Amino acid sequence: MDRDSFSVGGPFLSLIERQQPSPPSVIVIGAGISGIAAARSLSNAAFKVTVLESRDRIGGRVNTDYSFGCPIDMGASWLHGVCNENSLAPLIRCLGLKLYRTSGDDSVLYDHDLESYALYHKEGYQVPQEVVIKVGKIFETILKETIKVRDEHMNDMCLLEAISIVLNKYPHLRLEGLEYEVLQWYVCRMEAWFAADVDTISLKNWDQEHVLSGGHGLMVQGYYPVIKALAEGLDIRLNHRVSKITQRYNKVIITIDNGTNFVADSAIITVPLGVLKANLIKFEPELPEWKASAISDLGVGIENKVALRFDRVFWPNVEVLGMVAQTSYSCGYFLNLHKATGNPVLVYMTAGRFAYDIEKLSDEEVVDLVMCQLRKMLPDAPQPVQYLVSHWGTDPDSLGAYSCDLVGKPADLYERFCAPVENLYFAGEAACMDHSGSVHGAYSSGIAAAEDCRKRLSVQHGISDLLKIVMREELTELMVPLQISRM
Ligand SMILES: Cc1cc2nc3c(=O)[nH]c(=O)nc-3n(C[C@H](O)[C@H](O)[C@H](O)COP(=O)(O)OP(=O)(O)OC[C@H]3O[C@@H](n4cnc5c(N)ncnc54)[C@H](O)[C@@H]3O)c2cc1C
Repeated sequence: MDRDSFSVGGPFLSLIERQQPSPPSVIVIGAGISGIAAARSLSNAAFKVTVLESRDRIGGRVNTDYSFGCPIDMGASWLHGVCNENSLAPLIRCLGLKLYRTSGDDSVLYDHDLESYALYHKEGYQVPQEVVIKVGKIFETILKETIKVRDEHMNDMCLLEAISIVLNKYPHLRLEGLEYEVLQWYVCRMEAWFAADVDTISLKNWDQEHVLSGGHGLMVQGYYPVIKALAEGLDIRLNHRVSKITQRYNKVIITIDNGTNFVADSAIITVPLGVLKANLIKFEPELPEWKASAISDLGVGIENKVALRFDRVFWPNVEVLGMVAQTSYSCGYFLNLHKATGNPVLVYMTAGRFAYDIEKLSDEEVVDLVMCQLRKMLPDAPQPVQYLVSHWGTDPDSLGAYSCDLVGKPADLYERFCAPVENLYFAGEAACMDHSGSVHGAYSSGIAAAEDCRKRLSVQHGISDLLKIVMREELTELMVPLQISRM
């Protein structure tokens, strides 16, 4: 379609068109939240934007499934940081989306308040709440002591090693029997935050994340409405899997797997870190060493969900049902979606090695395994009427859940990962230093990459920044979505 066939109108746009007959063109690779945010931002700035997405849907690791007759988020489901400083807050507010706060805690340890757990032993009895709370406090004390271990050691180490140093120093913090199993459950919950096992979480970095205030809120209607609103009117090509990126003559040539080429002034790459690490996209010329090593030094964690819909609610009215065990690997927990949404759905959540291992099983085997665990807690649990199983680790479009800091991470890793390579920009959750692994972090990184790209291309194309700002305000006021012609 030709650019001139769009009737955006308005004096500002005509001025731009007179000044610059051919607007700068950008290809965004990936239609997850970061890619869509980048495309939206550049599209609002009157750039010609095309989004190439390998899947047959938009959203990426935001994946709201509606087959249960209600929204089920098989990827992201919480807004971490229910506050106005959250970059997604204005949009969520504007869309009138409801949040169900599961915790007011700002730390990375608890996205659920302690009193909302019902923990069970594999013998079927419920762990007394005072034990849950007591062990929770001991866990926090142990973690505080690991910070002293960090101060005493030059080199980074895994959190498990630091915990064992603490326990050797303070034997009274060692737990036994049921309390030990509850401690393993806390470790399991912590592993879920990082999507990594405690023997791979970096002591130096585990608490360095800038967690926004306001606690953690479940998106009651699912995350998809956010994606849908941002994507409206954008030129998004589904089933377009990028296999090669060539930089030549100040342009980028993007090749998709059927051999079709797309040419633009710049590209913003938002594919997951796991996809970059697996070298599924070839770069010509090859990426410089500083960038390639940043890609290989960042870690990717894994998390999976098994959503179960039942014909009735038969479980207690708590937010989380958890199973304690001898190792964090054998612990497990179910999120009670009935509390937040009113639907008879439990979501089993797993991270690290166990999440990796379940991807070797068929979906039926996974459901059997999970139901076996549920029946240890609630022996009369009926079969689910429907289920969904995620495969974020083996899905070729994600190859992992989200990024994590490996032990011994170089200090400038994020800067190198985020930095552009001439006209190639990098965005996505892994490119957000302060809020990696989150939807709002991915969103912010998309906006930041778009802004860098816009500035560079504006200079190259001789476009006035002031004019852009005025035009954006004008368009917002008129509420007219700016559409950009195809390439
Ligand atoms: C199970 C799970 C639970 C999570 N829970 C939360 C949570 O509760 N709260 C939270 O804030 N965050 C959560 N996250 C993290 C959050 O989902 C991500 O940080 C965020 O969605 C990433 O967005 P993105 O745009 O960086 O990447 P993506 O959403 O992965 O987008 C990248 C896009 O690139 C596409 N792509 C891949 N390869 C190609 C190719 N070759 N060519 C073209 N396109 C390609 C992909 O299909 C995808 O659409 C969770 C993630 C998972 C997996």
